[in-house]
Amino acid sequence: MEKIIKLSCPYCRTETQWQNNPSRPFCSERCRMIDLGRWDNEEYAVAGEKVREPADDPDETSFP
Ligand SMILES: [Zn+2]
Repeated sequence: MEKIIKLSCPYCRTETQWQNNPSRPFCSERCRMIDLGRWDNEEYAVAGEKVREPADDPDETSFP
């Protein structure tokens, strides 16, 4: 009773199947690598934002 599970590639939205798909949930290895690369870049961007803390904010130090 194996059912063919269909899914849309998260990157290019091509309909693909879950079974026998080494690149799932993507339609191909190419889409998988592109999407992983995109997430890596976003992670670095978020990490860069978090590093900037308002430690030397002039308003904080001039508090009476
Ligand atoms: Zn794709």
